[in-house]
Amino acid sequence: MISALFSSMHTHTLFCDGKDDIETMCRTAYEKKMYAIGFSAHAPITKKTGIKSDWNLSDDRVDEYVSEVLEAKRRWRGKLPVFLGLEVDYIKGLRSAIDSDIKAINTDYLIGSVHFIIPANGAQPFTVDGTHEEFFKGLKEGFAGDAQALMNAYYDAAAEMIAIGGFEILGHADLIKKNCFEKNYWPQESEICRQREIAGAAAEAGITAEVNTGGINRGKISDVYPSKSFLCFLREYNVPLIITADAHCANDIDGNYDKAVQALICADIKEHVIFTGKDNKKAVWKKEKIFY
Ligand SMILES: [Zn+2]
Ligand SMILES: [Zn+2]
Repeated sequence: MISALFSSMHTHTLFCDGKDDIETMCRTAYEKKMYAIGFSAHAPITKKTGIKSDWNLSDDRVDEYVSEVLEAKRRWRGKLPVFLGLEVDYIKGLRSAIDSDIKAINTDYLIGSVHFIIPANGAQPFTVDGTHEEFFKGLKEGFAGDAQALMNAYYDAAAEMIAIGGFEILGHADLIKKNCFEKNYWPQESEICRQREIAGAAAEAGITAEVNTGGINRGKISDVYPSKSFLCFLREYNVPLIITADAHCANDIDGNYDKAVQALICADIKEHVIFTGKDNKKAVWKKEKIFY
């Protein structure tokens, strides 16, 4: 049950809500013999959206972030490929990966992720990635407690994000399960329809999807994002998959990758991909076989 190569392209540092600095993350990736590391700070949102957040990179630290990653890229040249990225929120009507301030940063790659939901009833935006308390407050105030409506709003946002595009990697495609994992909050078939739709849209957009172990690494859930049924649709649509840890500390840089491989095997998927850089503004991926 192995693959010769792994990378860690979804990582957070002290620049956003991570616990370690860029150099510590690079050194750890090197020591673990990873093929590459990519930095994907939560892109700033406050200036653009007015939403306050203590886990996004602040607008006034973007230059510092970029120059620290580029310095690391130079320092590690010949030993470890280091890539500059961002995890960009899609926030309906407010933020997407094609915004000019994002495009102005010359990143190697972008991860597109939905964390925030804008309730249609005008209630406060909230994140589905927060604590149970925040989540259920948002569900009550924004969706009158109708979890299925919230699930649909989440996948609507994911579909819109993919249609708008501008990013290379689809982040934690079923993050909505994080706070709704233990119980049946909606009929399973209703979510499976959305998974199929998102997998088809990802294929059409030519993007790569994550197999993200972040929920396990942070002790929130016991499964990778996305779930087995979703992975099967991604396989059917031939969407390339990249294993990521959503690492918020150096120790988690390849956290639970064995579980990600296991999830791929369970979904009868025989390869994953590694990002190797861009050629003519297009991401280049290296296919890696999973042996079992
Ligand atoms: Zn995320
Ligand atoms: Zn993340």
